[in-house]
Amino acid sequence: MAGTFDRGIVEKIVRDVLRDFQRDQNASGDDRVASPLKVNVSARHIHLCPGDFEALFGKGARPTPFRPLYQEGHFAANETVTLIGPKSRMITGLRLLGPLREHSQVELAFTDVILLGIENVPVRMSGDLEGTPGAWIMGPAGMLELEQGVIRAALHVHMNERDAARMGVVHRGLMELRVEGDAPVVFERVHVRVDPTFKLEVHMDTDEANACHLAAAKHVSLTVPKGKSDIPGDVINKGVHS
Ligand SMILES: [Zn+2]
Repeated sequence: MAGTFDRGIVEKIVRDVLRDFQRDQNASGDDRVASPLKVNVSARHIHLCPGDFEALFGKGARPTPFRPLYQEGHFAANETVTLIGPKSRMITGLRLLGPLREHSQVELAFTDVILLGIENVPVRMSGDLEGTPGAWIMGPAGMLELEQGVIRAALHVHMNERDAARMGVVHRGLMELRVEGDAPVVFERVHVRVDPTFKLEVHMDTDEANACHLAAAKHVSLTVPKGKSDIPGDVINKGVHS
């Protein structure tokens, strides 16, 4: 019979074409909804576990939001504490960031560490507190000694799985951040943190932000080392340097 087609082969071809078409559609769809990159400054702050919070602010007390942060559900609280270093030097008004966490943690810039006189404060990822120094903390309802938990937070970028896939990076991977302006800096070790709830945002501390004059940055971009992606972004909350 002339013009005979193998029905199975035709169906396979149609299916393949449709699948490729759909994949292209999805790919371009992902690009269109790609998250905007934000670079933000984390000034020194404290996270508290429920027990430590009550010890400092009173039984039954709960943190109250002062302003929301860019990450969903995170907030700067009205509550602040006094951090006391080994030489009785102190930082007052150290702000609590909510919500409460499993472990208390103090995130300082190296400048703060020098001011307080705390020795051997390591650069760590949030939550990686083993072997870190402690400090005394004073709140309106009490005082406590944090046995460990003082760190300089490692420069990091928050993102969801879709952004990670788009950029070809994985949780705990590393990226590069380029800040262009009057004090240009390339940060070579930006730790990737992936969570379904995260929005694409770089967090640096005040020392890093001041070193690259982030508040006056002309352009910021995130690069995958040895990769092709170059994700341009914006600086937000300019001037939050305390
Ligand atoms: Zn962060």
